Amino acid sequence: MARFIFITGGVVSSLGKGLMAASLAALLQARGYTVRIRKFDPYLNVDPGTMSPYQHGEVYVTDDGAETDLDLGHYERFTGVNARQSDNVTSGRIYQQIIARERRGDYLGATVQVIPHVTDAIKAFALADTEGLDFVLCEIGGTVGDIESLPFIEAIRQLRNELGRENTAVVHVTLVPYISAAGELKTKPTQHSVRELTSLGVQPDLLLCRCEHPLPATERAKIALFCNVRPEAVIQALDAASIYAVPPQYHAEGLDAEVLRHFGLEAPPPDLARWTDILDRYNHPEGEVTIAVVGKYVGLPDAYKSLNEALVHGGLANRVKVAVRWIDAEVFEQDDSAITAQLEPMHGILVPGGFGERGSEGKIASVRFARERRLPFLGICLGMQMACIEAARNTAGVSGASSTEFGPTDEPVVGIITEWMSSEGLQQRSAQGDLGGTMRLGAYEAVLAGNSHVSRLYNGATRISERHRHRYEVNVAYRERLEQGGLVFSGMSPDGLLPEIVERPDHPWFVGVQFHPELKSKPFDPHPLFAGFIAAALRQSRLV
Ligand code: GLN
Repeated sequence: MARFIFITGGVVSSLGKGLMAASLAALLQARGYTVRIRKFDPYLNVDPGTMSPYQHGEVYVTDDGAETDLDLGHYERFTGVNARQSDNVTSGRIYQQIIARERRGDYLGATVQVIPHVTDAIKAFALADTEGLDFVLCEIGGTVGDIESLPFIEAIRQLRNELGRENTAVVHVTLVPYISAAGELKTKPTQHSVRELTSLGVQPDLLLCRCEHPLPATERAKIALFCNVRPEAVIQALDAASIYAVPPQYHAEGLDAEVLRHFGLEAPPPDLARWTDILDRYNHPEGEVTIAVVGKYVGLPDAYKSLNEALVHGGLANRVKVAVRWIDAEVFEQDDSAITAQLEPMHGILVPGGFGERGSEGKIASVRFARERRLPFLGICLGMQMACIEAARNTAGVSGASSTEFGPTDEPVVGIITEWMSSEGLQQRSAQGDLGGTMRLGAYEAVLAGNSHVSRLYNGATRISERHRHRYEVNVAYRERLEQGGLVFSGMSPDGLLPEIVERPDHPWFVGVQFHPELKSKPFDPHPLFAGFIAAALRQSRLV
C-alpha cells in the first residue's frame, strides 16, 4: 500500500508548498521510490480553466486533457511523472459530483452532509489510482484556518486513523519571519498555525519552516517544544537562489531523511546527480541571450509559469542564461516606433498562448518584425495563429485576414473548431456552448513532414504527441496561399485537417505550434523546440 504524505500550509499563502511537495517527491524518487503528487484546491471553481490568469496564474494542462493548478507543472517538471486529471481536485468538482448524485437519488433518502459525504469524496480522491506506488503526496491548497479548507483537513484526520499513523505523515509548511527592528526570527506565527491545525485533530509530523535567515538551534528547539514535534523534524527552509537548488538544499537540511525515519524506512542516500548537473548549468552559463515574450498577462509571471521554465530549460540545454523581456503587446499598437526600439536588441521573439482580441495587432506586428528582420521566432498556440494571420495579410495578399475569436470576419484564417477527432472519438462543440472544459484539450498527435525543420528538431520523429488547449484553429483552406508566401505547414493532425505546426524554410528559425510545448519541458529533459529556439537565439547573439 502507498504511504501518504499530506502537505499543509500555515501563516501565509505563497510559501511555495507546491515546490516543496515537488522537491520532497524528487528526493524520494532519487532514493529509488515511486511517487505521485496530488493537489486539493479548496475553491469552488470546478477547475481553474475559466479563471483569469491574474486570479490563478497559468492553467496547466495534462495529457488526459485536465485543466489544472499550476503546481502540477512543478510536480511534473521535478519528478518527470505525468500528472493526470485524477491528480487535481477542487471543492467545486467534489460538490458538483455530490449534487449530481443527490439529484439522481443515489443517497437513498439520506441527508447529504459535509461529513461524511464531502470528506468521503475527498478521501476517495486521495486513495484512487495509487496501486503500486510507494508514496502519494497530497498538497492542500490555501492556508490552515481558511473556512474552505476545513473539509480537506478533516479528511486528512480521518485518513490518518483509517490508514494508520505509520502509513501517513503530515508536513506543515510555515513561515518564520525575521523582524528587523528586533533583529530576531519569530516562531510565534508557526506556533499559532500548528495550534490551529492540531485543534482540527491533525498533529503535524514535520515542520518545514520558510525563513530568510538561518534558524538557530535554539529556535528550532523552541518550535519543536511548542509544536510537539522532534527537533530534527523542524526543517529549516531558507530562501533558495533558484528553484533547482531546492531539492539538494532540503536534502542537506534532512527533509527526506526525517520523512523516511518517520515511516521507519531505510533507503540508500539519494542520487542527486541530475540536480547537480542542472545547478551547474544554471549557475555557470557560458553566455546569455535575451528573448522578448510579447503577450498580454506580462505583469504576472505566474501567468506564464511553464513558459518561463521552458525558456530556462532551453538555456540549460545550451548552457546559456536566458534573460526574458516581458512585453505587453498593446504597447506596440499605440506606438509604432516602440517595436523597433524594443525588439531590435532581442535575440529571439516569442508570442505565447492567449485569449481574446486585446493586444492581437501588437502580436501580429511582432511576428512581422521577426519575419522581416530574420530574428528567431517561436509562436505558441495563439502565437501560431497570429503568425498565420500575419502571413496571410503580408505575404499572401489576404488583407482582411483575422480570427473569428475577434469577431465576424470575411477571411477566417483562424476559425472556431466545432468538430475534431480525439482518442475517445468524434468531439463536437457549438460556438454558443459552455466555456468551461470545452476546448480541444490534452495530448493529440501530430504528423511531421519529412525533411522539415521541426522533424529535425524532434530528432527525425514523424509523429509526436503534444498538449493542446484551444478553441480556434488555423483554417486549412488557406494552406496553399500561405505556403506560396513561404509559410509551410510542416505538422498536421493525423487526419490532415488541423494544422499543428508552421515554419518558414527561408528564415533562420521561424516556428509556430498550435500546441503548448512548454507544458512538457523538464529541466533534465529540455523540450526540443525550446532547446532549438534558444540555440538559434544564441547564433543570433553572435551575429550582432
Ligand atoms: N485563443 C486561442 C484559441 O482558443 C488560443 C488559445 C491559446 O493560446 N491557448 O484557439
